[in-house]
Amino acid sequence: MTREAGRSRGVAVLGSTGSIGTTALRVIARQPGRFHVVALTAFANSALLASQEAATQPSYVGLVSPNGKKPPASWRIGASALVEAATRDDVDIVLNAVVGAAGLDATLAALEAGKRVALANKETLVMAGELAAAACARGGGEIVPVDSEHSAILQCLGRRDRNDVRRLIITASGGPFRTWTPAAIGGATLADALRHPTWSMGRKITVDSATLANKALEVIEAHFLFGLPYESIEVVVHPQSVVHSMVEFVDGSVLAQMGVPSMELPVLYALTHPERVRDDGVPRFDPVAHSPLTFEPVRLADFPALRLGLEAARSGGAAPAVFNAANEQAVALFLEGKMQFADIAASIDAALAQLGSMSGRDKVSLLAADAAARAHVSARAERN
Ligand code: NDP
Ligand code: MG
Repeated sequence: MTREAGRSRGVAVLGSTGSIGTTALRVIARQPGRFHVVALTAFANSALLASQEAATQPSYVGLVSPNGKKPPASWRIGASALVEAATRDDVDIVLNAVVGAAGLDATLAALEAGKRVALANKETLVMAGELAAAACARGGGEIVPVDSEHSAILQCLGRRDRNDVRRLIITASGGPFRTWTPAAIGGATLADALRHPTWSMGRKITVDSATLANKALEVIEAHFLFGLPYESIEVVVHPQSVVHSMVEFVDGSVLAQMGVPSMELPVLYALTHPERVRDDGVPRFDPVAHSPLTFEPVRLADFPALRLGLEAARSGGAAPAVFNAANEQAVALFLEGKMQFADIAASIDAALAQLGSMSGRDKVSLLAADAAARAHVSARAERN
């Protein structure tokens, strides 16, 4: 990708109406002359999309599924909007803030087209990390993570050689059930699961943070982003969400990246990496106000979704795609009130037992594994 100094860079914000999307628009608005919005896409929230269009004046607006009011004639309608937005000539950076596997094609197309992908949509990498790497190699694109843990790791690594790294230590807040007994977790309601202690996020990732499936997704994401084997990637619970992750080097030195729990910083860094630019919009870090910082082991036995995700990671092949799709489908049913909290992990377990060894690493096979896992979870939920 060309990086001419002084030129304002065009950003396509996919999923602009979501938690990360709206954060990104706030961050970009604070950097006039450096970044400008050229494309916006949403799934169905046309009212917010229209007000974002008025505020940012993009050259492209896409809506996947208009429900109700007729959208403006200038908007592109349908699922192809994501790839269209991601591959436009006036786009330098694609900020993929779509939730779930629906973001896959846009990520791959943007990488093939040589764009920087500022990637919040971690499901893309979990499902098809090898395809994303191949698309980077072919098209010259690059992935810069938006996820705060991976942004932290990238910042700690700097330009150092990967051979200097002994271990990645990914921090987890522990979610709302960190201190709950297994019996209480089993009876958790939707409202309980949506009450995240440190982060305000979209509903799907908030539930993933309650089951800790999110940490499994993040371990797989780290494996593909940084090329480390799973034995070298650990998870530790850090309830304050101030240390965003750590890197241990071969000499035993450990670097951590810290900051207030705000996604504005990792979003901005994904746009500017490896440079840093001034931004006074994020609350300043105060070590005394944020103390004490504590760490504890993760309760793997009480959060089976994490254990299942780590097992799927090690199995490789289509297993991570099955894990991801089963989780997406189960969480969707949980959010609709059609599944109990404990059934999310049980559904993933059953789907992996049935489909985890599906073969094939190409896109067609991965999409088939994804579809089979979703169907498996839905059928199981209907039986129960
Ligand atoms: P939200 O649910 O808040 O937003 C999702 C966005 O994607 C919305 O703009 C939504 O449009 C759009 N969207 C949903 N489904 C589709 C679809 N099928 N096709 C196209 N667009 C769709 O999610 P978040 O912002 O919380 O999360 C986005 C991604 O970032 C996820 O992968 C998440 O794991 C990751 N992430 C989020 C963090 C956070 O702090 N929120 C932190 C780290 C990672 P509409 O509004 O119209 O429905
Ligand atoms: Mg994260």
